[in-house]
Amino acid sequence: MTEPAKVSMEKIVSLSQRRGFIFPSSEIYGGLSSCWDYGPLGVELKRNIKQAWWQTVVQERDDMVGLDTSILTHPQTWAASGHLEGFVDPLVECKSCHLRWRGDDLKDNSCPSCGGEVTEPRLFNLMFKTFMGPIEEDASVVYLRPETAQGIFVNFQNVLNTTRKRLPFGIAQIGKAFRNEITTGNFIFRSREFEQMEIEFFVKPETAEEWFKYWREERLNWYVKLGIKKENLKLRQHAKGELAHYARACDDIDYLFPMGWAELEGVANRGDFDLVQHANASGKGMTYFDDETKEHFIPYIIEPSAGVDRSALAFLCDAYDEEPDKDEMRVVLRFHPALAPVKVAVLPLSRREQLVTVAKQIYADLRQCWMVQYDDAQSIGRRYRRQDEIGTPFCVTIDFQSLEDEQVTIRERDSMNQIRLPIAELKQTLEAKLEGEDLFVLPAGGKVWKVEKEV
Ligand code: ATP
Repeated sequence: MTEPAKVSMEKIVSLSQRRGFIFPSSEIYGGLSSCWDYGPLGVELKRNIKQAWWQTVVQERDDMVGLDTSILTHPQTWAASGHLEGFVDPLVECKSCHLRWRGDDLKDNSCPSCGGEVTEPRLFNLMFKTFMGPIEEDASVVYLRPETAQGIFVNFQNVLNTTRKRLPFGIAQIGKAFRNEITTGNFIFRSREFEQMEIEFFVKPETAEEWFKYWREERLNWYVKLGIKKENLKLRQHAKGELAHYARACDDIDYLFPMGWAELEGVANRGDFDLVQHANASGKGMTYFDDETKEHFIPYIIEPSAGVDRSALAFLCDAYDEEPDKDEMRVVLRFHPALAPVKVAVLPLSRREQLVTVAKQIYADLRQCWMVQYDDAQSIGRRYRRQDEIGTPFCVTIDFQSLEDEQVTIRERDSMNQIRLPIAELKQTLEAKLEGEDLFVLPAGGKVWKVEKEV
């Protein structure tokens, strides 16, 4: 395998649009600034990321449950959480060209576009406002949530009472969040509508530091397990002045995006800030009763907060590779099989009826298990390249010999190696291979296949 090419954002944007991963939102009207639509492949990638996250943090753990709370939340939530007051960015405007910038992004207080003088910073709240019901008045203002976390905090007692979970335990949620960001850009890195995957992990205060370290490692390893190169990830500790209003400590998991190192996920120690705030504002108890020590107390919260879209961008960038191939360049997305939008492509060598019948049968059979594509257009080499470019781990080719010996070829994306095997063993073999077993050794009998290179 060649060294991965350091990919430019232009290449990722172009591939995403060309192959149907991501489109500008409402493109026919010129697009809507910093909103994005996920196409047929993008939606699969996002679903796979969310599924992999949910499996790791909820399904496979004893100490976690899931939740799905509404985007519109009682407005008092945002007063109590500090977002009405504190979820602000300093906004400055260039006095010459009138472009607006985030004050803390400017190096020397001059406009990054024209160099002009900028105004004094003015605090700008990032929450989107709307009205509940038919009357647009102050009393009916509601906000689109800027993070999914608050929906978890306000349900803390509901979950505690209905699940009988004991500390330490967590609540996980995946959902949309909205921020009226001043500066957006870098494709889906920072948009105004995005999706978060958040864990609020409730612990005894004296163990918070330990759990903070635990989640930092756990989350970093999750990206590595799903194929992100270790050297492209690093932990970055927030300086005191950089901490969000609720945080006692926060470390970012940064990824080396094409534009440089930037936050992929934040892991924060929120202390008891949120539960205390909601207890005070709602008058409802937010304490936990420890049956062993017979004490009532408010737990501390460790929060690993990840972005689905930022993860999708990181997985796309990290998987992108180019290598010389005959006279051309082979573009390949080396996705982990769990994330690949399409797991298998079924390719009959020709459109002859007998071949198509066998191929369609295999296609119908395999798609019971995975997202499978059927492709019979153009040369087989071209079809392999099309699948490489969208990161499909395996192609199954049906040729004329298949009609006689009931065998087909599996071709693997990264090595381009091929093996021939009986159709009867195809599904079980693909299953093992997608789970990460060596393609060229059969699991049960340890049978070694004759490997050939793609021609
Ligand atoms: P940034 O400083 O980069 O705007 P943040 O520190 O405000 O991010 P958090 O509030 O910690 O972000 O949100 C947790 C996660 O949600 C981020 O790590 C990121 O993955 C995602 N996220 C936050 N804002 C956006 C956005 N505008 N677009 C896409 N993803 C976002």
